[in-house]
Amino acid sequence: MRSRRDFIRISGLGAGGLAISASGLGVYKNLASSPPQGSELSVDTTRTPTYCEICFWKCAGWVYKNEEGKIWKVIGNDEDQHSNGRFCPRGTGGPGMYYDEDRLKTPLIRTEERGKQVFREASWEEALDYIAEKIKGIAEEHGPECTALLTHGSGGKYFGNLLKAFGSASIAAPSYAQCRGPREVAYHMTFGEGVGSPERTDIRDTKCLVLIGSHLGENMHNGQVQEMSDAIDKGASIITVDPRYSIAASKSKYWLPIKPATDIALLMAWIHVIINEEWYDKEYVEKYTYGFDQLKAHVQHMTPEWAYGITTLEPDLIRKSAKEMANAAPAVIIHPGRHVVWYGDDTQRSRAMAILNALLGSWGRRGGFYNPEKVSIPSWPHPPYPVPGRTWKDAYPDQYNLAYETLASGICDATIPTLSKACNFKAWIVNGTNLIKTIPDTEKTLQAIQELELMVVIDTMPMAITGWADVVLPECTYLERYDTIRDSTHRKPAIALRMPAAEPMYNTKPAYWMAKELANRLGLGEYFSWNTIEEMLDWQLKQVGSSLEEMQRIGVKTFDRTYDDLYFQKDQDMEFYTNTGKIELYSTALAAEGFDPMPKYTAHEEPPPGFYRLNYGRAPSHTFGRTANNALLKDLMEENTAWINPKVAGEWGIENGQYIWLENQDGIRSSFPIRARVTERIRWDSVYMVHGFGHTNKKLSRAYGKGASDSELITKVHLDPIMGGTAMRGNFVTFKFEPKEEEAAS
Ligand code: SF4
Repeated sequence: MRSRRDFIRISGLGAGGLAISASGLGVYKNLASSPPQGSELSVDTTRTPTYCEICFWKCAGWVYKNEEGKIWKVIGNDEDQHSNGRFCPRGTGGPGMYYDEDRLKTPLIRTEERGKQVFREASWEEALDYIAEKIKGIAEEHGPECTALLTHGSGGKYFGNLLKAFGSASIAAPSYAQCRGPREVAYHMTFGEGVGSPERTDIRDTKCLVLIGSHLGENMHNGQVQEMSDAIDKGASIITVDPRYSIAASKSKYWLPIKPATDIALLMAWIHVIINEEWYDKEYVEKYTYGFDQLKAHVQHMTPEWAYGITTLEPDLIRKSAKEMANAAPAVIIHPGRHVVWYGDDTQRSRAMAILNALLGSWGRRGGFYNPEKVSIPSWPHPPYPVPGRTWKDAYPDQYNLAYETLASGICDATIPTLSKACNFKAWIVNGTNLIKTIPDTEKTLQAIQELELMVVIDTMPMAITGWADVVLPECTYLERYDTIRDSTHRKPAIALRMPAAEPMYNTKPAYWMAKELANRLGLGEYFSWNTIEEMLDWQLKQVGSSLEEMQRIGVKTFDRTYDDLYFQKDQDMEFYTNTGKIELYSTALAAEGFDPMPKYTAHEEPPPGFYRLNYGRAPSHTFGRTANNALLKDLMEENTAWINPKVAGEWGIENGQYIWLENQDGIRSSFPIRARVTERIRWDSVYMVHGFGHTNKKLSRAYGKGASDSELITKVHLDPIMGGTAMRGNFVTFKFEPKEEEAAS
């Protein structure tokens, strides 16, 4: 058996196994798309298709095995639009997830109170019977709507179908209220459509890409990073707005080191300049938009000089960067970002970005935003789902009417009984999401969990949330299972198959099997009436002109577009899905709900003396906290660091590389120390760290205690009044040189 080091070398992460793209942005090109000829390693020439589960980008690839039939490496599928045949560094580390000896290995049932890691091993029969009986009892007493699903990842679709069949519509992904929700609402308000995933940004052909707090290159959205690299090579200019000199900033023509929390002021000043200098696309604005005159009047006082006093950015820099965008238009993208829950006015900030895109005529234009298309995979025939009597929304009458998806934090809050809210939830099924870290304000999440009569956690790893579960169901990894057909949107409609490359290790099972077994026990078998997953997938694929046999062979199938062009045609008449049928610069929907129809800058709380704003982000080798224990990826980055400006470090006497503790405005000190990175690359008023470290569960033997957790320092949350997003960047930290007493004692 090969060592873990060998896996690093041969999976394309080692120095001999990779080539960095021309612009050095860190996307790794597989040197071979087939087994190496004449290699000392003879390999099993069979390969199985998959799509990567290390992050939500879901790049399609191939899994190869070694001569012993063991999983050896994962590489990109050349036919895939998400990956273009290349996996990012963390994606190539996928086998590390499969070989992780810390994996959950068998079902567990709690034997002591919540929070204590005292479980007994159980058979699948016993664990599933236990869950079914509990859920039935809860439904009899409180109604089926009292069970909620909180989910992230591919298997969630099957549990979602189970919940709907059971009579509950409360199915939430933290990726909405804790990540991309505000931008989706903002783009719906403006263009009548969301941005989607992968984002419909036409970076490939752009001439100007504007990144606002979005650090592509470190945030490894594979296809986007490749397109950004190619665009730079073709001469596109990058404008980066960030208090930190990120990798993207280093590739930029203009870096705007903005004072944190003032982005809306910059955006409104840009809108002011572009309107007043008449740099906007007059034909486009005239033909497609609604509310231009109101917008023009609204921004008249929002000059670059006004914004300078707020953002600390020189007026000349604001004007020059606006001109850069206008020169490139319509091939310009003000990138909508992804994790956009920052200060609580995030829908309005995203609106300002959408408006800027509209003024420059980039929506629906080459080099701006393309019209995506997808294959619609039909569902296996089943009886109609019952109509739930209640949903999570009943806990929030007259609130969040513009939220299109369920709020995970809304379910959490509605689980805690209060005088003002009906207590709706008694059971949670938590699939593939470590709620302790994904929903901010951990204390409140734990309070909600204590109110539950049942919490089931489905995961591959013993993440912190499993310690609070009543029943833990161990899922096999994505390399060991079939999943739903990937049918996400792109320039061309396409599908991708994931199938098992190996039998599940230990006593683990795939999500579809668990959901079907639970359905049988709940008397809902008719909703899962297929005999085998192969039968179901083959039926689905045949409905769209493929088959399981074909997809097992090719992995990815791309279809011709069937409607619309990729871009608006010249003079094409368009109707947008907004109230007015136009692109709304003035939002009638926001006005009708009592919100500002056009964005306004409002000042946010400043750090108290001796504190610095906590900013956080991603590293190319890790995804959230899920990969910190991966042996292959841990070798690339074992712990995070705290970026501190030298002036600040000097005042505190902090040396580069010194371990310190961070403490937030509420007196919460990081459980573990973090190494200081003293660098000019960050403003003096901010501290930056990569998210996903500082794990407290000792069962994660490699990740435990490595680095500090930003999540535990985020105790202050500002709710976006428009759609309920949980803003996390209103937290401040100071420096400590020792652990808290109780932690030191333990
Ligand atoms: S971007 Fe990287 S981690 Fe994410 S799906 Fe693609 S290869 Fe996997």
